[in-house]
Amino acid sequence: MAKTDIFLSALKLSGRRITEQRRIICDYLANCRTHPTASRIYAELAAAHPEISRATVYNTLNTLQELGALVEISFGDGHTHYETNPAPHVNLVCLRCHRIIDVPVASPLEGVEAERWHEAGFWPIAVKMEVYGFCSECRKRKKEEIRDQWRQSHEQMLASRPDEAEDE
Ligand SMILES: [Zn+2]
Ligand SMILES: [Zn+2]
Repeated sequence: MAKTDIFLSALKLSGRRITEQRRIICDYLANCRTHPTASRIYAELAAAHPEISRATVYNTLNTLQELGALVEISFGDGHTHYETNPAPHVNLVCLRCHRIIDVPVASPLEGVEAERWHEAGFWPIAVKMEVYGFCSECRKRKKEEIRDQWRQSHEQMLASRPDEAEDE
């Protein structure tokens, strides 16, 4: 089943009529790879389709989320994001620039002992896995920042040292 259809059939399941606007929203989500926030989704949709209603966007997102077709995630930047990538993957979250990199995995349940969930009678529909750290760009930046800080404090230290030559 195409990804757009997964969202559309979830909406149908909830008794929603498939309007042109809802189809546009589902299409957008199916092709999105950036873990957007709700306001970002609305802004991008409205830019391409000025006729789209804000209420419809938010209602549709809420419905999809309630049905488990869309998973809410939080990356510690104070905003709620949506995971729109249905393929098993791990999110690598940069603590500095909040960029999220999807890394595909064979199974996100590897090493998680999923049998225990089944023993508890739990039926999982989505797994989110986040690994926190620094992306390659921020690692470079961080090294430079540390180097700059070190250089500054070193220069201050040199400047504050009494010049021995003057004493003579
Ligand atoms: Zn980064
Ligand atoms: Zn992801």
